[in-house]
Order: sequence, then C-alpha cells, then structure tokens
Amino acid sequence: MPDMGDSGAVSRESRPTRPPSDRSGSLKDRRALLPRNWALWTRPRRFIVFLITMEVLSVGGFAAAFAHSPQPTGSDWLEFTILAAGATVHIQLTRRQEERRRNRTKTVLIDLTAVWVFPATLVLPATVAVLLVVVIRIQRWFVARRPAHNFIYSSLAHGLAAALANLCYMAMGPRDWTTLTAAESLREFGLILATALVYEGVQVLYVGGILALGSPSPTVRTVLGSKADNLLEAITTGLGAVTAVLVVTMPPAVAIMAVVTVVFNRLAELDQLQDAVVTDPKTGLLNMRGWTESAERALNRVRRSGSTLAVLMVDLDHFKQINDTFGHPAGDDALAAVANALSSVTRPADLVGRFGGEEFLLLLPNADAAAAELAAERVRTTIAALRIPTTDKRGAQVTISGRTASIGIAVFPRHADDLDGLLQAADTAVYDAKEAGRNRISFAPVPH
Ligand code: GH3
Ligand code: MG
Ligand code: MG
Repeated sequence: MPDMGDSGAVSRESRPTRPPSDRSGSLKDRRALLPRNWALWTRPRRFIVFLITMEVLSVGGFAAAFAHSPQPTGSDWLEFTILAAGATVHIQLTRRQEERRRNRTKTVLIDLTAVWVFPATLVLPATVAVLLVVVIRIQRWFVARRPAHNFIYSSLAHGLAAALANLCYMAMGPRDWTTLTAAESLREFGLILATALVYEGVQVLYVGGILALGSPSPTVRTVLGSKADNLLEAITTGLGAVTAVLVVTMPPAVAIMAVVTVVFNRLAELDQLQDAVVTDPKTGLLNMRGWTESAERALNRVRRSGSTLAVLMVDLDHFKQINDTFGHPAGDDALAAVANALSSVTRPADLVGRFGGEEFLLLLPNADAAAAELAAERVRTTIAALRIPTTDKRGAQVTISGRTASIGIAVFPRHADDLDGLLQAADTAVYDAKEAGRNRISFAPVPH
C-alpha cells in the first residue's frame, strides 16, 4: 500500500521534508512530545487542516467497519498469528536494507508489508485485520524515522484502508474458498480485485492528498508516485492476494511468502540503485554515464531513421565568482537552479545531463541546426533571467541573478558522426563562445 513517506502506516507513505527533529536525544525527545512542540505545527495550514479532518473522518470509517465485524473465531486467531509471524520475519530481516531504501525515497514510499495486510482484509474480521496493522506499524516505527504526525497519519491510512476494504469485501458476499469450482473462483477473483481497488483508493486519497498539500509544487509523480512505484504497489497487493489463498488453503506454505517478501524487498532496492547509478546527486539530472548511455541509443535511432540530432554544451560564465563571493553552498544552489531551468525549457524526449562541474549537456533528438539554435537561444535567455534565492557565506539571504552561460552546438551528421566527435565539436564551440565574449551561442566549425 502507499504511505506518505514521513508518516508511514500503510503501504504508501509520504516522506518527511525535514529530518525528524523529535527523535534525537532524550531531553529533546521529551520536549518534542509536548503538543505545542509538535513538528506538525511547522507545516502549511492547509496541510494541518487536511490531516486533522482525515483523522477525524477515519474514526467514522473504523466505527462502521468494526460495527459489522464478527467476533473473531479460533481459526481467525490462528490465521492472524501466521500473518503476524510472516510480517515480523519480513520486517526484521529487512530492517537495515529498508532503512536505506527509505532514506533514498523522496516522496511516495511503497511499503511492502501490504503482502501481509491485504490478505488480512480478505480473510480476517476488520478488528483483527487492523490489529495486524498495529503490530506491523509498531515494528516499522523503529525503521521509519519520520516525524510522529506523519507516522501516525500513515498508520491510520493503512489501518483504515484495511478496515474499509474488509467492509466492502464482506458486503459483496464472498464464498468459502475451500469448496470453489473453477468457474466460481472467477467470481471470487473479481471480488479480490474490487477489494484491492478500495484498499488502494483509500490510501491514494489519504496519502496523495497530504502529499499534494504538504509540497510547495506537487506533481503527479510526487503525489501518486512513479510508474515503477505503482507497479511495485500492484505486485505487492498481488502477492498479498496469493498469501490470502495460501493462509486459507495451505497455511504452512505461507513460510514461502515470508522468504519471497525478504527477497522482494531487496529487488525493490535494486531498482532504486539502478536509478542512482545514472543520476547526478547534486542536480538530479543524468550523470555522464546515464547521459552517454541514453545518448548512444538516441544517436542509433536517428542514424536508422536518417534524421538529425543536436548536442548542446552549456558552460556557466565566471562560475568561480559565485563560489568566491557567496561560498560553495550558494554555488551548489545555482547549479541546482540551472539544472531545473534546463529540464523545464526542454522537451520530455530531450536528454539533460551534467557533464561535470558547471557544465551541462543537452541532446535534442531530430533537431536540425535551426531547431538547435532556437533551443540554445531559449536556454541562454532562461539562464540569464534566473533569480536564485540562496544564502551567502554568513548565512544571510541573497538572490543571485544576472548569471549567464556560453553554449556550444554540434549537429549530427554535419559536425561529427559519433558521440565523441559531437562532444569534441560542442566543446570547441563553447570555447569560441567564451572567446567571443561569453553569454552567447556558437556553432561548431564544419569539418572539411
Ligand atoms: P568561464 O566563464 O571561463 O567558464 O569561468 P568559470 O569560472 O565558470 O570556469 P572555471 O572552469 O575556471 O571554473 C569552474 C568553477 O566551477 C570552478 C569550480 O570551483 C566550480 N565548480 C565545479 N563544480 C562545482 C560544484 O559542484 N559546486 C560548486 N559550488 N562549484 C563547482
Ligand atoms: Mg567550465
Ligand atoms: Mg564556466
């Protein structure tokens, strides 16, 4: 399920925007517990209002689900024990790894314990399913490292998703799985899918809502998660459905799911690491390795289709002055601002990378010289118009503006016919632009 990284109760969590100050040092710990010192009050007002409204609404949801929840039987408790044991093995054996994975996640966090909670919504009374969420969340607290309000909110969202999904599932009148014919199992499978939608829907509403309100510039990706996040979420819920069938029909086989979830947790981290290998941490752009790999593929496509492409090398003018005047952290802020600007003035198919230092690379597929010139001019004027808020060496607020860049353009196949040649040519063009006075664009010389 999706948690809001900083709160973390369901599978989808929202991540905190600042380190949880309320969890370090024992005296500070106790002070942070006082309601007036809660980190919650530092968040935007609409965030606080939404959070409290949803928490109040969730009480009604829990009441409705619990009112319809039958008295747990002996076999309910046995199934609860099996799921709780599986979840405990999963959480405890992946603690270190999960801490790393969570630290690397910026917004939506997919919590893989839905493998255990989703089956509980299908096979257990709502009260016992929610108890399982509590057992899982208590163990999670030690890994999550979020401000308490986030953690509690995510936990409520996870619990409520389980309770409401259970309420809907029961209302649809599920059959006993141990006596199903093949045709009947099709209907039951449909019910499981419908329940998964409710389960996801509640979390998206709770966690997506709070992420949208807590962030100054929410995007679909930061609110609902990336495609990979949602695929991970779907697989997690699917594994949960399999766990549900096993716990009813062949309980000892749930041990297999415990092993699967531990390995699955590792795979989820691998995906993140693959991203990290091709990303420049300072700017979030492609690093040289990532840019080159994608650029080679783009060049091959363009070669096959007989089209053109352009490489732009962007070198910031007198960048050293920023470091010397305001300090390196201000220089870093300027690099991040330029990186942002480059991403926003280019198209999704363009490749934006950091070549190194204060140099950036753009690859524009299918651009000819005229299109490249237009794009380079747009980049140049955008950088020149940037106003970058940052702090100087003494920590005072300053705004850096009036910074410029020199841009070299090389076009395939006119200036070179491979990537190295294009980079060489664009670099020569940058040098020419610097010589000619900076803050300008320049084409590479055409080889004889
Ligand atoms: P020019 O107009 O000739 O390009 O002058 P310049 O100062 O931009 O060029 P130069 O190559 O002399 O200096 C580049 C500077 O960029 C020096 C280096 O300290 C700074 N720099 C490189 N990488 C980083 C970084 O990651 N962060 C910060 N803050 N500065 C960086
Ligand atoms: Mg340079
Ligand atoms: Mg420079």
